[in-house]
Amino acid sequence: MPTHSANTIEDRLYVLRTRWEHYAAQGRFEQFIEFAVAVNSLAEYFNRLRLPGLVRLCEGLENAVLAKLGDVSTHPISSQDISSLQRQLDTLLGSVATSRSSGTSRRVQEPVAAATDIDWIKPRSVWMIAAQEKRGMADALRRQLQFFGFKVCEIDWGGEQMPQDKPLAVLFIPAADRTKPEEFSFIAAIRANCPASQLFYLGGQAAIEPIVDLMRAGIDVTIPAEDQPSMVLNCVLDLVQTNEQEQYRVLIVEDSRVAVALIQRTLAQHGIDTQAINDPGKLLDALESYRPDLVLMDMYMPRFNGVEATRVLRQMTAYSSLPIVYLSGESDVGMQVEALRLGGDQFLIKPFNPVLLAAVVKTRIERFRETRRSTRLDGLTGLLNHTAAKSRLNAMVRETQHGHLTVAMIDIDHFKSINDTYGHPVGDQVIRGLAWLLKGRLRSIDLIGRYGGEEFMIALPGVSLEQASTVIDRIRADFSGLPHAHPGGALHATFSAGVASYPAVDTAASLTETADGALMQAKRLGRNRVERFR
Ligand code: GH3
Ligand code: MG
Ligand code: MG
Ligand code: MG
Repeated sequence: MPTHSANTIEDRLYVLRTRWEHYAAQGRFEQFIEFAVAVNSLAEYFNRLRLPGLVRLCEGLENAVLAKLGDVSTHPISSQDISSLQRQLDTLLGSVATSRSSGTSRRVQEPVAAATDIDWIKPRSVWMIAAQEKRGMADALRRQLQFFGFKVCEIDWGGEQMPQDKPLAVLFIPAADRTKPEEFSFIAAIRANCPASQLFYLGGQAAIEPIVDLMRAGIDVTIPAEDQPSMVLNCVLDLVQTNEQEQYRVLIVEDSRVAVALIQRTLAQHGIDTQAINDPGKLLDALESYRPDLVLMDMYMPRFNGVEATRVLRQMTAYSSLPIVYLSGESDVGMQVEALRLGGDQFLIKPFNPVLLAAVVKTRIERFRETRRSTRLDGLTGLLNHTAAKSRLNAMVRETQHGHLTVAMIDIDHFKSINDTYGHPVGDQVIRGLAWLLKGRLRSIDLIGRYGGEEFMIALPGVSLEQASTVIDRIRADFSGLPHAHPGGALHATFSAGVASYPAVDTAASLTETADGALMQAKRLGRNRVERFR
């Protein structure tokens, strides 16, 4: 296996297959653990690519593997268990192969370099299976999905003909609340045909039994009648939103070189970056420069111990909520409780189980990042919230010495009447639609913030007032053409915008204020237009 490029799908599948073959041939406990780690890390990888269908298959296999983990004495497992794991592994590998071939067939003409892992494995088509009675809503949804670049294939309920390409998602839109027996069997047939796709059912009652029945037939997500179709677009868009997350970072505070090497190897297999220090005296400098998401803290070290180091960190506001996990040979329960009471989050015993270590580290970091994210990002749109957008703009103005920086304030027109006419959920969907359009049209270096309810702030570094006005005016025209689905069909909305530019206006506060003034002018002049500060 090529050691430095374990991040391609090929390498991961190769590792998974060989580890399984080794275990199947020799049956040693350590080989089984290595296999479990490979399954877990593949699940993690598909999760990063947002391929929920493949994640589900991986997790199914992972659960089956963990159920058989046991210890040295329970290996090799029985030949029945081997065959059953083999079957699950084959299903998984088969589904990965199907997702890939449907992705590659459409790109054979393109240069190889353009087809990154993420591109070639992610389908962009959606199958829609709608009842006649739901034609209006289905049409609106189709137009909306097409607007965001999805290919929509409509299939009849019970139809035999299915496209070759496997879809990203399948939307079932039934006529009635109660699912008919033949509908269940059709869902099951689609599930079998598309194991890696996400299956949505738009309808059904808000009761547990019918939802469980749908899940058993193969539905992944049931969306109750009152939330559609606003939810659907969001769910489908979430499937393709690439997780532009930074790599997880773990600081290891440990004086044993052997322990450090083992930990680093385990975490590296899960794509987690690590840095190690052997002296807790260097802890504060390391935290400052490395900014880890979690600290793995040895209990016994020279000079002072892990608990003392943790107590110091807990007194500093910057690190008061940083996850700290102890790693120790300490098996005395009283000592462990004391260590947790004094500020640690969890306790792992050395020698550690690699599956457990990776799982603990990942879930702790996920939760930590989620908390941090929720204080900076707006829940509805995932954009920077008011406070975060303002402080980002301040930083951008500080960084702009020469050249331009253009700020725009955008406000949706007559938004109150959209809410009043179609209800709040549809209003929310209009807000998210605009957020998605902005994300899709602007660069990753641009600031996009949700400044207020239906108000957005954007800042474009290196772009002049004229250029920015052109860009935003194009987005304005596109937004006015974007259909927003509601139960009775589709509506259209517009926005107004005001722009102002650095260096003519030279502070963050005056840029927002001036752009806001231009926005007011755009509203006065009749809305659905972009005005510049003059
Ligand atoms: P104008 O063209 O002058 O901007 O008119 P408007 O109706 O858009 O302006 P106004 O500021 O009076 O109305 C904004 C409305 O946005 C009021 C508020 O109820 C609604 N709103 C604020 N936040 C949200 C939200 O998160 N979701 C939904 N659905 N509505 C929101
Ligand atoms: Mg030690
Ligand atoms: Mg407003
Ligand atoms: Mg408004």
